[in-house]
Parts: sequence; structure tokens; C-alpha cells
Amino acid sequence: MAENVIVVGGGIVGTSTAYYLAKMGIHVTLIEAQDIAAGTSGACDRAIMLQSKAPGPMLQLGLHGARIYETLEDELEADLEYRRGGGMILIETEEEMTAIRELVERQRQAGLDIALLSGEQARELQPGLGAHLLGTTWWAGDAEVNPLKVCFAMAQAAQRAGAAIRMGSKVTALLSERGRVVGVEAEGKRTYADAVVVALGVWTPLLLRTIGVELPIVPRKGQILVSERVPAFVSHNILSGAYIAAKHRKDGGKEEAQNPAGVGLSLGQTGSGSLLIGGSREFVGFDLSTTPQVIRAIGQSAVRLFPKMAGMRVIRAFAGLRPYTPDGRPVIGPVEEWPGLYVAAGHEGDGIALGPATGRIMANLAIGRPAGCDVAPFALSRFTQ
Ligand SMILES: Cc1cc2nc3c(=O)[nH]c(=O)nc-3n(C[C@H](O)[C@H](O)[C@H](O)COP(=O)(O)OP(=O)(O)OC[C@H]3O[C@@H](n4cnc5c(N)ncnc54)[C@H](O)[C@@H]3O)c2cc1C
Repeated sequence: MAENVIVVGGGIVGTSTAYYLAKMGIHVTLIEAQDIAAGTSGACDRAIMLQSKAPGPMLQLGLHGARIYETLEDELEADLEYRRGGGMILIETEEEMTAIRELVERQRQAGLDIALLSGEQARELQPGLGAHLLGTTWWAGDAEVNPLKVCFAMAQAAQRAGAAIRMGSKVTALLSERGRVVGVEAEGKRTYADAVVVALGVWTPLLLRTIGVELPIVPRKGQILVSERVPAFVSHNILSGAYIAAKHRKDGGKEEAQNPAGVGLSLGQTGSGSLLIGGSREFVGFDLSTTPQVIRAIGQSAVRLFPKMAGMRVIRAFAGLRPYTPDGRPVIGPVEEWPGLYVAAGHEGDGIALGPATGRIMANLAIGRPAGCDVAPFALSRFTQ
């Protein structure tokens, strides 16, 4: 059993993994190139939304994650702005209605008691919705959290349990001896351990390639607008049907030609009152720039769905990189051809919801314990064999 583990990457997946390892009494070193949450976990939305997860392994992992979140503030002794306020998917067209009906049916079979509301019922529950809406879904179990607070609280709790955290330290190589990974090199310094967990989000393939392992994780950019502070405007997680279509669409299809930047509305409100108005889904490499066309398209979709937003000021925009995989599932588990090496990455637009659950699973696997749930659907071998 591993007694000494290195975790590379200080996003939600890496900090969660480090926390659960430290809590089990394992000697952990977390190594991060910049700062905690400097990557995608610090440039994203705040939804722990289960109704948008694909039924099957992703929904199961989501349910596991949602249960962890219910008690995480007490466990970490931190305010995470966690709130279980429910969530809705907005339906504008008959085509969307058909697709969402199917999704709801499959989610109900999987145990999520999602309701389909008429436009009128939805406007009663969420004032401000456009009059043209045909309806929405509604599930009270969806929640939200401040991702930055989760990352910092996980890192601090890991430290309290004995973990060492090295920031500003970019890992440039994985060290191997006799066919096994035995440590990492960062800033010219070599550190050895019984196991190394790579949790680098979109940057994961860059480090794994140095040891000959190819992984199909690519960045999928999302742009988000931030409004001025406003009084309570939305009390739930809100996604549009177009957002769901962009999330699950196949490349090269009709929808891609009509909406190349994958714009669809996601809306949430921060603890300080700003609205986070997303988003897009774009394959443009590691480019993190925000672009006027996409910002305009996001704004237009927001005003169409919430006409009152026309008078609101947007104070800034930012972009983050979702770690996309071709089948929409993350990679969680060992690298078969390199004993001692583990990967936890590729959570696309679900990493905040799934980060703590992934950390708990990864911590078990890295020290040779049973994962605690079925991880076969997340094995790296599905891409390498
Ligand atoms: C616009 C947008 C909206 C989103 N909204 C949601 C949402 O509402 N709900 C949800 O569940 N998910 C959402 N996501 C997805 C979620 O943000 C990601 O899946 C998650 O943050 C990925 O976390 P991670 O720990 O894998 O990667 P990251 O947070 O990117 O962490 C990787 C870390 O590795 C560090 N690093 C990189 N290279 C090295 C190196 N060589 N050595 C050491 N460190 C290195 C980076 O600095 C970074 O801190 C959204 C994403 C985007 C872009």
C-alpha cells in the first residue's frame, strides 16, 4: 500500500484528492504550477446540477458527488456558499421540448424525480422568464457552490491533516525506474513517492506525453459574462435547452453549423449579487481570450430568455477551458502500463459537481483500496486499447 503520494495540479480534482489522502493519514505532497484554482476551477460556473448529467455512469458519479457536498461545509469547517436551491432547463421550441421530454424520462427511470412545468408555472417559480417559453424542467435537488472556496478549503483541510503544498512549481517530468513511475521533477527538483496522481485538467496530456502516454483530453473554451451586483434575481441554477444541446452534441452536425460557438444560456448568481451569464463551447486550443461575437451572442440569448436583463450592466467577461473527452466521461484510475501512475482528469463541464467525488475515489485507488464505486466506465484503457 502506498504511504507517500504526490498529487500534481491544484484544481478541484487535485485539491480534493490531496485532502482525502491526507485525511487517511497518507503523506501527501500537492504540487501546483501557479496557485490553487489557477486553472479551470477558478474560471467556471458554480452549478452542481444533476439533471443535466447523462443518465448512466455520469449521473451515478454525480449522485455520489452531490451526497458529499451535502455535508462538506461541516467537514471542511468552511463556508463554501453551498445552496440546494434547485435547477431548471428552459424550453423554447417544440424540438427542444421533444429532446428534453426524452431526457426527463430517462432521468426519472434513473431515480431523479424531475418535473416538467408549463411556461406559466415556470414564470411563477422564477419571475422574469420570457413570455415565449414553452416550459421548463424543475428539480429541487440541484445545488450550487463557490468553486474557488471549495478548492481553497480542500487545500487548507489537506494542510491541516499534514499535506505539504508546493505552489509556483511546474512539474516538467515524471520520473521512472524499472518500468514504474517513482516521482516527479519540478523546477529542477526531484521528489519521490510510491504513487503519482496527475490531476492537470486540460494540461494532463502534456505531462503524460513526456512518458509516452496519449490521452484524448482537449480544451473546450467557455466564455462567461459577469453582471454588476443586482438584488436577488435567480434563485436556482438555470440552463437553456440550447446549452444542453451544445453540451451533448456530436461534432460536425447541423447544430454546429447553426451555432458554431455552441452558445446557450447558463445563469447563476454569486453570493455577492453578480450574475454569471454563460456560456459557449468552443474548440480553439488553449486560447483564453474573450471575443465580441460570442459575448454579444451570450448577451442576446440572456435577454431573449430574461427580458429584464436588457437594462443590466456587464462589468467583465472571462473564459475557462473545459477538459473535454470524446465520450463525455472523465478518466479516473491507474495508467496500466506505468505502475505507480494515476490520472484524474477530463471532467469537461462537470468537474465542480464531480471533483470531490473524484478526489475520494482517486485517493482510495492511489493507495490500493477499493474505489468505493464502479470506476470501469472511467478507465483510461477505453481510449488506449
Ligand atoms: C465556462 C465554464 C463553466 C463551467 N461550469 C461548471 C459548472 O457549473 N459546474 C461544474 O460542475 N463544472 C463546470 N465547469 C467545469 C469545471 O470547471 C472543470 O471540469 C474543473 O474545474 C476541472 O478541474 P481540474 O482540477 O480537473 O482542472 P484545473 O482546475 O484546470 O486544475 C489543473 C491545475 O493544474 C495546474 N497545472 C497545469 N500544468 C501544471 C504542471 N505542469 N505542473 C503543476 N501544475 C500544473 C494548473 O495551474 C491548474 O491549477 C465549467 C468549466 C468552464 C470552462
